[in-house]
Amino acid sequence: MSLTDSRSVLVFLFIFLQLNPSCMSQTYNLSWYEEQRTAMVRDQIRLRGIRDEKVLAAMQKVERHRFVPPAYRKESYEDHPLPIGEGQTISQPYIVAFMTEALELKPSDKVLEIGTGSGYQAAILAEICDSVFSVEIFRSLAISATNLLQELGYSNVMVKTGDGYIGWAEHAPFNGIIVTCAPGQIPEKLQEQLAERGRMIIPVGDNYTQELILLEKENGKLRKKNVLPVRFVPMINEKGDKY
Ligand code: SAH
Repeated sequence: MSLTDSRSVLVFLFIFLQLNPSCMSQTYNLSWYEEQRTAMVRDQIRLRGIRDEKVLAAMQKVERHRFVPPAYRKESYEDHPLPIGEGQTISQPYIVAFMTEALELKPSDKVLEIGTGSGYQAAILAEICDSVFSVEIFRSLAISATNLLQELGYSNVMVKTGDGYIGWAEHAPFNGIIVTCAPGQIPEKLQEQLAERGRMIIPVGDNYTQELILLEKENGKLRKKNVLPVRFVPMINEKGDKY
């Protein structure tokens, strides 16, 4: 083969690969997802007023598409929640960022999450604080989240199957508590398990109208503030009844 021939083979190969990104699907997808993630952080998170650089960096770093089932993966960075199985959802990216920022976490903090779901919110928290204890009522979700978080190297997240209405007493008190399913009232045990100067963010209400409430413990007393109307899946007991 002459030099000109081999050049045209290379040119052909180059054009073929450009036109057939599926040949390089891994790299193509990764950079596509990264672009989507960058746009998500810019348009949905930063532009809407999230200022905490640690939260912005975590949202930029954690690959949300890894936490989304294959059928919905392309929508991972869109501005809405997505199904994750068992009738449950992974929250909208903005809500994840908003709730995380509201906790004002320090690197030495220990956080309790109620409602592990996909494990995405736990991964965001794990990027920012020392340790995350997360409780999920569906065993299948707790297992898949545990496996994924382990695969991604989050050794500072502990997940257990159980009813988060009673918190996780063995590891209390917590500097932050984040609840991602909605009870009708703020569970007593969660209030008890909040550390002095700790913050809790929790959606409270019925199936249709809920308010995100921020609580702060000072001198053993809780100060409450309604911060945002929201719609989360209900907090349920082991029989499936709503709290
Ligand atoms: N934080 C999750 C969002 C999950 S949606 C994520 O990032 O993907 C809320 C989750 O709360 C669901 O997985 C649901 O099964 C769980 N849940 C509902 N009631 C619960 C309870 N009493 N204790 C623990 N988890 C509960």
